[in-house]
This record gives sequence, structure tokens and C-alpha cells, in this order.
Amino acid sequence: MYQIKKSQISCLIAIPLLCTLLSVQTLAKDWLVESPAAYKKAVAQLQAGDNVILANGTWNNFEILFKGEGTEKQPITLTAQTKGKVLLTGQSNLRLAGKHLVVSGLVFKDGYTPSSSVIAFRSNKENLAYHSRVTEVVIDNFSNPDKREQDYWVAIYGQYNRFDHNYLTGKRNKGVTLAVRLDSKNSQKNHHKIDHNYFGPRPILGSNGGETLRIGTSHYSLSNSYTLVENNYFDRCDGEVEIISVKSGQNKIRNNVFFESRGTLTLRHGNGNLIEENVFFGNGVDHTGGIRIINKDQIIKNNYLEGLTGYRFGSGFTVMNGVPNSKINRYHQVENALVENNTLVNVAHVQLAAGSDAERSAVPINSKVQNNLIYNENGQQPFTLFDDVSGVAFKGNVANTTTHEKLSSGIRQQDIKLKRAKNGLLYPVDTKLADKGAKKSLVPTLKSATGPSWYPKVDTLVAFESGKVVNVQAQDDALFNAVLAANEGDVLVLADGSYDVRKMIDINKTLSIKAQHQGKAKITFQRSTLFQISDGGSLTLDGLAINGNSSPDASGNTLIRSKKWGMVENYRLVMKNSSVTGLDTNHSFHLFDSGKGAFADYIELTNNHFSDITGDLLRLNKEIEDLGIYNAEYVTLKNNSFDNIEGTLVNLYRGGTDESTFGPHLNMANNAVKNSGKGKRNKTNASLYLHGVQVVNVKSNAFESSAATVIEHTVGEPKTALINNTFSQTPAPSVQELYAKGPHTAVLLNNKQAK
Ligand code: CA
Repeated sequence: MYQIKKSQISCLIAIPLLCTLLSVQTLAKDWLVESPAAYKKAVAQLQAGDNVILANGTWNNFEILFKGEGTEKQPITLTAQTKGKVLLTGQSNLRLAGKHLVVSGLVFKDGYTPSSSVIAFRSNKENLAYHSRVTEVVIDNFSNPDKREQDYWVAIYGQYNRFDHNYLTGKRNKGVTLAVRLDSKNSQKNHHKIDHNYFGPRPILGSNGGETLRIGTSHYSLSNSYTLVENNYFDRCDGEVEIISVKSGQNKIRNNVFFESRGTLTLRHGNGNLIEENVFFGNGVDHTGGIRIINKDQIIKNNYLEGLTGYRFGSGFTVMNGVPNSKINRYHQVENALVENNTLVNVAHVQLAAGSDAERSAVPINSKVQNNLIYNENGQQPFTLFDDVSGVAFKGNVANTTTHEKLSSGIRQQDIKLKRAKNGLLYPVDTKLADKGAKKSLVPTLKSATGPSWYPKVDTLVAFESGKVVNVQAQDDALFNAVLAANEGDVLVLADGSYDVRKMIDINKTLSIKAQHQGKAKITFQRSTLFQISDGGSLTLDGLAINGNSSPDASGNTLIRSKKWGMVENYRLVMKNSSVTGLDTNHSFHLFDSGKGAFADYIELTNNHFSDITGDLLRLNKEIEDLGIYNAEYVTLKNNSFDNIEGTLVNLYRGGTDESTFGPHLNMANNAVKNSGKGKRNKTNASLYLHGVQVVNVKSNAFESSAATVIEHTVGEPKTALINNTFSQTPAPSVQELYAKGPHTAVLLNNKQAK
């Protein structure tokens, strides 16, 4: 690859390579530039029809301002010498201003934008881009390392712009991946086209601000946008509850695929949007949703939704209640919605008049739901009605399930046999049902038809145990050195013996550390932490016998921690078949402590024995500003025994009143908890302290002589179940609603309170 050397940066002269007479007036030039200075000089002289070509190589800290006045017949282009071989790294970005500009072939990686967008279709508030295009551009993991710093990867302003065949993956910091801005008259009625883009995996953000695509904002939502979003592929876009948030009128969202993406396409604000021929494949993944309707004149037709598990506002299909005389940023009543010829296969939940409460009391009116096909192989009917839905006329729909009694005149129940057609979608075998559900001619957009053809769509998440097996002997520094030398996905197998670890071990890759024989690899450690998980790190510990007796005689040691602050990549932590004891050289010796801003996709403790620990087990309580931010999505404890843990077993805190996240989740089953949570330094006075956790399942655990389980419900109608637990000499669980009025909504069933 061509690398720009420092000595060449001084080369200020742009080279006009070719001079072609394209019309009587204009001499179009190709400008091959090899430095930012040369680029700047070329841009100042651009004429319609000119092509600026960035030389292959790495351009570090390059803020590109691409300005010019092209014409429809003679656009001005900016491209790579070879597509994909021009890398923009460090603090780089791109602004377009003018008319008929086309940018292609660039790759943004290994850095982040110092400004509020990586690509902006404007240079400043006054100078926007019109009739311009960004195509075959890659933005790959170009996230601000401070995940709370907000930016857009793409902000489209102006009018008649196109964003197509681009590849956007791995946005980890706060802020919409692609935003269509309507914040001035010159950006409204914009007729933008967003098509054939590959929206690669966007990890769970753990707060609001993780939308993949947003069109408008509530402030300008009564303006029309006329944006067309078609033939895009949304691959595991899990950032938050909204995958697409439409906040303006007259947009078309057509023939996109949503693959295993948590969240929904939400018609949050704005009227008269058309949602058609979209395909949702949830494949049973948690919180996969479909379409959520709010506002007037929305048309939803010929969409195909399969395997969606989402519930509440994240359901496969939701029609909301509105607020009477709603403020612009609240919920406008659903009026004149047309929902027809959609196929819903194994969609767990369809919610009507959702969100009905004292404020949201305006039920949907003058709406039609017709000729839809509903099929659930488990026979469960998916509808929940939260209010009067007589304003929604159901007609000509068919379902294989029983139907909700209030909808039965408009949904016919019958046996339905489905067959998968060549397009990958299921259709009824019975030709009499040909006019029900999505049409046969629907062709789902293929992943391969999106993004630039020259940039491979590889999964960057490394699975545990996907690398090689490395044997480690019980010798001085052997474990430390083995971790340092290991590659992604490797499994370090520890021979029997004692490992007294001298230095803190940094985990910055996906690794498993496993005893060759369970319990025979004995580990002690001399620093305040044994393992620190930093960006890129994920850790499995299996079969180890860990003792804290060589740890410093100081308070606040931890066995494992994530970096104390400033992590941007999510991590995974698993501990199984292991024993941990003697974390008691001083007070407040914790098993695991999350850093501020760190986020675990999951933490799993299975088949372990924990004893004699002076601190907490899992401290996931660093986001105390109550901004809806939290530290772990799924926390699972199964088949463990806990004995004499002075602190809290799980302290999981999700504060604030924002409802933009699905988590956190806690799943605790078949554990034996003894004499735990009762240390005088345990500030929660609880063995489990769960604040704002959205899904809690605590089942079949035995608590003995321990502190109480304390659960505080905040917002989002959390699902809490405590079932089949025994509490001996342990106070009964306490569940409190902090915001909702009335009794708590937790399910407490078959729990035994014993002396
Ligand atoms: Ca949001």
C-alpha cells in the first residue's frame, strides 16, 4: 500500500493529470493529491466536472472540507486512488458543501471525529450540500473513545442528497449513527435518498442515544421530510429501543431488512409516513421488535415480520395511545392509520392502545387493520389491548391462533399451512389466502447487495474458545506471559499446581483461562487486582481455585475489575466451576468491580463456590447520575454457593426515568446463599440490591441467615419474578415502586419463609 511519507507532506503542488475537453466551457481535470495541503489547493480551484483523487495510503488527522459547485451533468467528485485503499485515521472527518458533489471509496477507521459528525452534508450552518452523494464509503469502529461524548457518524443536511452503498459498523459512543437533520428550512422537504447501505452491528449502548437512523427531531416533526430509506440492511443494530426513529412527515421506509436487531422501527413523530415491504427476521433473539405506530395517516403495508420476541413498546407490532392535545414532544394520537397485508409469523406480541395511562388517554381512531396474516406456531394469540380499540376497524385478517374476543369479527381463525418460498419468506399453501399477508413478489434486500462490494462484512465479535489451546505450566510469571502472548479466542489450559501472580494481568482480547483439572490450578495474586478487563477484553475463568491470601493488606482489592474509567468496548465475563475464597486480607475485598462507563454484554457465574469475602461480588453500580445509564445488560448466577459474603452479591443500578433501554436483566437460579450481605460495611443492607432493573428472575434459590433481597422498580414497567425461593432466617424480599402509584407489580410465588 502507498504510504505518505513525512517528506512528501511538504509537496504542495497538486498535479493535474488529465485535461479533457468535456464541453465548450469547461476543462475537467483530475487532481491526484498526496497531502492535505495539496488537497486544499486543489479544492480552491475546482470546476464542474473535476475529480479530486486522494492518493492511496493512510491520511491521519485529516479534516476534509469538500466544497464546490458541480452541475447535474458535471458533478465534482472526490474519490480514492483505489477504492478502499485510502484510510482516514486519527481525528478525521468529511464535510460537503455546495452542489452536485460526489464522494466515494474512502475508509474511516482507527480514530474518531473531533467534530459532531464524521460525515456532514454541510460546512457550517449557512453552507449546506445539495444534490450531492456519498457512496461506497466505510465508517468502521470510528467511535469516540469517551462513549458519553455524542456525535453523529453521518448528518445529512440540505436537500436532494443521496447516501448509498456505504458501510457503517461498530458505533460504540452516544449518538445516532445516521441522522437526517431538518433544523432549517433548507433541510426540510429534502427528498434525500438513503439506500443500499449496510448498517453493521451496533452494540448495546446501555442508555438512550443509540439509534441507528433518525429522520428529524420532535422540534421540527410537523415538517415534511420526503426522505426515502430503501434497500438497506440493518444487521444486529442493538444500540437501544429505537432502530429507526422517524420524527418527521412524508417519509418512505421501503424494502429494508432488519436482521436480529433489538428494537423497533418507530414512527415517533410526524404524519403520513409509508412503511412497506420491510422484512424483519428476529430469529427469536431477545427484544427483537417490529413496527411501532404513533401520529396520523401512517400506512404500513406488505411488511414481513418473523420470529420477533419483543414486548411492550418493543413488540413486533404496536399501536400507541396518544396524549390529548399533545405537546410536540409527547405522543400524538393515532388517527387514520392503514395497516394492511402484513405477515406476522411467530411474532410474540402485538399491542394495541399501548401506553394507555392517565396522560396517554387518546385511543387510536379512524384506523384500519385489514388482510393481515398472523401465524404463531405455538398457537398463542399475540394481541394485548390496553384501552378501547373500537376506533380500529379489523377486517379480513386471518390467524391460525384463537383470536382476542374483541377482535374476533375482524380476524378469522383457521388452519393455515405455510411454506417457505424462494425469496426466503413464508406464505400460505392455500391459494385462497393469496390476498392475505405480504405479497409474493416481495424480494428481501440481500446483505450482499448493500455496502461497497470491496469491503468484507466480517464479524468482529470474537467467540470464546475460537482460537487455539495453549498449555501453561505452574511456573513464575507463566500465566502473565501466556496472557500477553495469547491471540484472540485462545484457551489457556493451566497445569495442576500453584500460580502466585506477581503483576496485574491486563485482559484486552477474548480469552479463556481453564484448569486442566478442575480445582487443581491454584491461584493467588500479589497486586490489588488479578485481572483487569480493558477495551477489547472478554474473559472466561473455568475450574480455577482462587485464594486471596497473598493479596495486599489494604482495603478495596478486587479479583477482577474492568478498567476504572473510560472503556468504550463492551465486554463479556464468565466464571464457572471455580472456587474463590479468602478475599479477606482487609475489608471491602470485592470479586468484581465495574469501572465507570464500562458495560458488560453479559456476566455469568455458574457452578462456583464463593466463601469468606469481605466485599461485594458484583459491583455494577457506577452510573449514579440517574441518566438511564447502567453497567451490564445480562447478569446470570446459576448453581453457585455463596458463604459468608459480607457485602452485596449483586448491586445492579440503573437510575433515571428514561425508557430507552431493554435492560438490565438479572437471572438468578438454583443458588445457595448463606450468611451473606450482613457485613457492617454493606451499605445496601441487602444480599441483592436491584435498582431500576428491567427484567428480574430469581428462582429456586435458598437464602439462609442472609440480608434481604431489595428491589426498587423505577420506570418501564419492569418484569420481576421471585419464584420458589426459600428464605430461612432471612427477611422477606422488599419490592418498591419508586415512581408508579399503587402496589408493586412484581410476581412473588411459592416462596417459603422459614425460621
Ligand atoms: Ca431514543
